[in-house]
Amino acid sequence: MRIPCPYCGPRDAHEFTYLGDATVTRPDPAAPDAAAAFHAYAHLRDNPAGPHEELWYHGGGCRGWLRVTRDTLTHAITGARFAADSSVSAPSVAKDPS
Ligand SMILES: [Zn+2]
Repeated sequence: MRIPCPYCGPRDAHEFTYLGDATVTRPDPAAPDAAAAFHAYAHLRDNPAGPHEELWYHGGGCRGWLRVTRDTLTHAITGARFAADSSVSAPSVAKDPS
């Protein structure tokens, strides 16, 4: 599997570390149901079949945190962008190495 890093270009998945679901959001600690919300935030995950937003860390390259869209059935990656900047996306085609 190759992941298209927006900074480094397409790289082997072994350079990256999977960090989990990118769609979960931290709950409000002041909410009346904060304990249950934090339990769900920390421990409960969906197991979607199909396209899914995931966090990956590029430790073997630019050390950037990426939001990667990956199909969990086929492992096809349809997009990747820096987690801190949703406006920068990786190209969907491989860069020429020359
Ligand atoms: Zn990178």
